[in-house]
Amino acid sequence: MIIFRTILPYRKWLREQRSQGKSIGFVPTMGALHEGHLSLLRAAGNNGQTTVCSIFVNPTQFNDPNDFKLYPITTESDIQQLVSIGTDVLFLPSVEEMYPEGAIQQTSFELGNLENILEGAFRPGHFQGVCQVVSRLLDIVAPDNIYMGQKDYQQCMVIARLLELKQSATSLKIMPTLRETSGLAMSSRNMRLSEEERKKATAIWRTMKEMAGTLSSIPVPDLEKEAEQKLLAAGFDKVDYCTPADAATLGPWQPGIDAVILCAAFMGKVRLIDNLLVHA
Ligand code: AMP
Repeated sequence: MIIFRTILPYRKWLREQRSQGKSIGFVPTMGALHEGHLSLLRAAGNNGQTTVCSIFVNPTQFNDPNDFKLYPITTESDIQQLVSIGTDVLFLPSVEEMYPEGAIQQTSFELGNLENILEGAFRPGHFQGVCQVVSRLLDIVAPDNIYMGQKDYQQCMVIARLLELKQSATSLKIMPTLRETSGLAMSSRNMRLSEEERKKATAIWRTMKEMAGTLSSIPVPDLEKEAEQKLLAAGFDKVDYCTPADAATLGPWQPGIDAVILCAAFMGKVRLIDNLLVHA
């Protein structure tokens, strides 16, 4: 695996790849890699694509400075995992390389209501920061395909919009969420949970499945209330939302259309998110 920390040598390498007719499959991450990330890289490596992973903990997408400070960094183990699955390139830039003019959030992406609802409502500025970093990474890495996890459902919709805004030729490939056998969605943030908390956190998966089972028979406000009570009873400390939405727009869900149940809740100081698609 080649590790690039700066842009220029990467661009030189990219030119060589292009001259050999290779296409690039790209997986942007913030590191602390787990099987979920590796599944995206495996998908990117199919069909003989050259695989590029980036690891960059982007300061401009954290609305909570403490969350940024506590974000797990496990670069040595990340590199080992990437090598073990045959990743071709790791792009590992510094903040200065990514933001030579300073890590100040741009707010110039026209995301419409997508940035004000659900995650956007609880994490002001988050999706502008995500667009800023992904836009910069797309310009640098210049991939044919970008692979992202359904785990971050709203983020996938935001990136689809970003690709439209940029009139980008890159295709977005959305891959399924990998879970522990307990149902807990794999997440870098799980590293901050104790064994006991990990067990309690499986309530998100259970609660979403139970909501899916009663979606058409109980009014949405009652479903939301019930889900919040279940999560608090299971040991979550605060529930930001646990609600069904229109799977295509994230607007209000109505019976007869595909739903996505989206959840965000705090276990201690660790904020976990997850979602479940329910076809009509
Ligand atoms: P992150 O490092 O958390 O920013 O995630 C990098 C990419 O990995 C994003 O596209 C995530 O949606 C994806 N991802 C995170 N967790 C999982 C998971 N459990 N299964 C599949 N993809 C995931």
